[in-house]
Amino acid sequence: MGLDQTPRRHETMNTEHGTRGAKTVGGAARSAAAGSMSRRALLGMGVAGAAGLAGAASLWDWFARWRDAETPADVFKGGAPGEEMWLLWKARGWVKEGRHYVKLGRNVQCKVCPNNCLLAPGDRGHCRNRINRDGTLYTLAYGNPCTFHVDPVEKKPLYHFLPGTRTFSLATAGCVFRCLNCQNWEISQRKPEDTKNPRGPEFRFRPPLPASLTHEQMERLSLFPEDAAAVAAALGCPTISYTYSEPTAFYEYTQDTCKAARAHHLRNIVVSCGSIEERAARDLYAWVDAAHVDLKGFDEAVYQKLNSGRLAPVLRTLKLLRDLGVWFEIINLIVPTYTDPPDMIRRMCAWIAKELGPDRPLHFSRFHPQYKLSHLPPTPIATLVRARDLARAEGLRHVYIGNAPGLEDAGITRCPNCRKAVVRRDIYAVTHLDIVQGKCRFCGAPIPGVWT
Ligand code: SF4
Repeated sequence: MGLDQTPRRHETMNTEHGTRGAKTVGGAARSAAAGSMSRRALLGMGVAGAAGLAGAASLWDWFARWRDAETPADVFKGGAPGEEMWLLWKARGWVKEGRHYVKLGRNVQCKVCPNNCLLAPGDRGHCRNRINRDGTLYTLAYGNPCTFHVDPVEKKPLYHFLPGTRTFSLATAGCVFRCLNCQNWEISQRKPEDTKNPRGPEFRFRPPLPASLTHEQMERLSLFPEDAAAVAAALGCPTISYTYSEPTAFYEYTQDTCKAARAHHLRNIVVSCGSIEERAARDLYAWVDAAHVDLKGFDEAVYQKLNSGRLAPVLRTLKLLRDLGVWFEIINLIVPTYTDPPDMIRRMCAWIAKELGPDRPLHFSRFHPQYKLSHLPPTPIATLVRARDLARAEGLRHVYIGNAPGLEDAGITRCPNCRKAVVRRDIYAVTHLDIVQGKCRFCGAPIPGVWT
């Protein structure tokens, strides 16, 4: 999940429906034993389900997929909604067949993110949003955001993309990671049924817009892709942001809304942890105009411990965005004792400069104690300033510091040629903009980004 914090207004919208009591298999970390069990189970299921496979793919294709598969993540065994909740959810239109998965007899393997969840009928994926129902993978996070809001684009944060504009931001429950420091855990670590209520009359949110929404309306509100685009346009937002939790976990909703947004001549912003399989990423980012990727550290062991994720797929996504020509910026939250070693920061910056280029904006962000790391202190300002020095020494030209109000030069964009300030910001507000047609007003040098 990215660092864009959800607005506080809706964050306590939790209800108790459906799959209460569902269990994860094996706790938070993946174990080698669990992995080998899954492979054996997968092989057994494949033999039993060979007849079902024959129609979908050749046996060799299936074997190659099995051989190349990542060790699947822990899933919620038997965690799919019961019959009543399923029917209510379906009647609302909040169910969609998943994209990017393989059928293995009556079992399915999701290929949206590197968790590669392997689901028997009745199971729920690691992100809490996807289930196996009778041999088909479905997402439950479709058209049912648990929160939406209009934000300055600088809050994502994106500093080199349409500065000073507002973006219609939405999220559903669920996330592919388990970050110990998550600032939006009230929605990211919930399942859709915890944040929405399919009972009562249907309530589609679309223009003409009501002046306000009650908590109860928000719980049963639907915001389908076409309606989301119409709402964003009605609110005067040139972009829609998929943010707060993790867009990869509500992949189908994100992708369809991106397409609807384009049809309304709006642009799309994805704020993501970057942990997504390549094929799914290519399909999604074809519709995306800007991304903000949370590079949470530069060490596999730290990624596993702090985020229950892996670094390598995130680096692959960053290189893919570079190759696809999607504008993107990177954020790195410096968490004391986890991601603050200077050598790790230096190696990360060297990698960014070499692989993504010196013009790629990097935002260092200050950690504040929360969620499971409430015992840690905030990141010292000196640590953030040292990180910026290291980044600049590695050649990065646009390095920012966030969550540190009052720190000099923290949010100023300087022309890489004449060094004059071309964008000044006060927290999320742009106070001076001296870029004309993508160039420095003072010397005419091009400034990397999307400015109009
Ligand atoms: S998107 Fe969800 S269900 Fe699919 S692999 Fe990732 S965590 Fe598992």
